[in-house]
Amino acid sequence: MKKCDFCAREISYHEMYCSEECNKKANEFYELREKFSKLFAVLNGIFVMAIGICIFAFSFLPIFAVYAIATSLLVLAVLYFFCPFPPEVMIHKYKIKKSIKFCRIISLALLVLSIVTFSCAIIFMR
Ligand SMILES: [Zn+2]
Repeated sequence: MKKCDFCAREISYHEMYCSEECNKKANEFYELREKFSKLFAVLNGIFVMAIGICIFAFSFLPIFAVYAIATSLLVLAVLYFFCPFPPEVMIHKYKIKKSIKFCRIISLALLVLSIVTFSCAIIFMR
């Protein structure tokens, strides 16, 4: 059975979306992605790399590393919230609505992780 490209509701074979609403939302998603995907890729690359470098730097610059990791996690959380651009395979499998929701869950998880990291830094590394 074919499914709506946005909400994954079952539809007939000659349709792409189940409603005008889904069509509109899907177009908005693709427009947003077209506008910001390059910026997203650059920021994502920089801050994921920053976390990697900071984990390495932890042994000789622990305080700086922990604060830099917490900040990077926060930036990624904000980025994934406002630019929920899931990989194409995911969109294909789960459709747009569910994929965006998944990005927002990851964003929330990163936010929590960032707050925990900040708290640990403040409590244990004075
Ligand atoms: Zn739909």
